[in-house]
Amino acid sequence: MSKNKNIKFDSKCVHSGIGEYEFGPVVPPIYQTSTFKFESAAHGASLFKGEKEGYIYTRMSNPTVEAMEKSVAELEGGFKALGCASGMAAISTAFTALLKANDHVICSKSVYGPTSTLLRTIFEKFNVETTFVETSEINEIKNAVKSNTKVIYVETPGNPTLSITDLQKAAKIAHDNNAKLVVDNTFMSPALQQPLALGADVVVHSMTKFLNGHADVVAGIIVVNDEETYKEFRRVLNQMGGVIDPFNSFLVHRGLKTLALRMQRHNENATEIASFLESHPKIKWVRYPGLESHPQFEIGKKQHFGPGGMITFELKGGFNAGEKLMNSVNLCQLAVSLGGVETLIQHPASMTHLTMGKEARETAGITEGLVRLSVGIENVGDIISDLENALDQVMEPATEKINNAV
Ligand SMILES: *Cc1c(COP(=O)(O)O)cnc(C)c1O
Repeated sequence: MSKNKNIKFDSKCVHSGIGEYEFGPVVPPIYQTSTFKFESAAHGASLFKGEKEGYIYTRMSNPTVEAMEKSVAELEGGFKALGCASGMAAISTAFTALLKANDHVICSKSVYGPTSTLLRTIFEKFNVETTFVETSEINEIKNAVKSNTKVIYVETPGNPTLSITDLQKAAKIAHDNNAKLVVDNTFMSPALQQPLALGADVVVHSMTKFLNGHADVVAGIIVVNDEETYKEFRRVLNQMGGVIDPFNSFLVHRGLKTLALRMQRHNENATEIASFLESHPKIKWVRYPGLESHPQFEIGKKQHFGPGGMITFELKGGFNAGEKLMNSVNLCQLAVSLGGVETLIQHPASMTHLTMGKEARETAGITEGLVRLSVGIENVGDIISDLENALDQVMEPATEKINNAV
């Protein structure tokens, strides 16, 4: 770690977390083993007592996992990181470590669906109460604080509205009230946003997305700022058991090497595509942190190093137009998830949020023509051509209305 102290972020992506191993490999080997031999009974005892450093059992620690954790901790500017089996394992472990019965959570309204469900069902069952507010309106956070508020949980940019929360202000409210600020940094990655430096106490990620970046791993991570929090989180993760395995750690660590490069291309491609979409006659509005039309454009510019790869837009033709667009794209892959090298497109009203019903969708801000695009690293001209051709297949809004009336 110390030898990497003065190198820049893109160099850290390549070099961080890599230690010394037998035979001198430049890449950490995959220690695909569940358990580790003790040299003697006394050695085993000293490991369990924590007197000696070493490995006991892979749920507790594993060198391949540790290498990846070290890398993410360095990239996020944190003390240490804890690799988890998925983003949801990371989020549920963080809540479990920070909360007890009768505590209160303030959570972004615009949050990854299962995170909100987790709080509303499982944590509710254990008497943890959650208030969902629009955290991009800082006063909504302030007004929701109670004497038992222990966690303020923010996703910025939020899913799927891409609303941006001022992290420095959110951290101040948390700390003034003896609560912790937990930030889901999945949409930005540490290449574009480093919440710990802005005052957050804990960062969580779905590494399934930009950190791994290649759509071939489900994984998560928690990054913390100090030894005491780390020990407590490690104890909880060890007991809850949602750890990442060595092979997935290896794949994520490999993906991290190109994180800076990939995010740069995601920024460039998405910026160009967002402008193209904003000027298209069949599109009502485009939400992208890099567009001046974004309601929190200035806050975004202040706290992130780039606008990222996620775009949300609304088709004038509503539900039918959304379905038609999904069936007309070719290069863009019709799939949920995000943050991979390939461009993914999704229409929540006919896909992820279909069974929710129109009214519930409206309350959640999921309009009928809403499309979510995770812009990949392909040639930007190819992505735009694909979207242009697909949009040509979408009926004019006027025609659509007549058809709906029939
Ligand atoms: C995907 C995602 C998660 C959940 O991650 P999994 O790896 O699917 O468990 C959490 N937060 C955000 C913002 C996500 O996009």
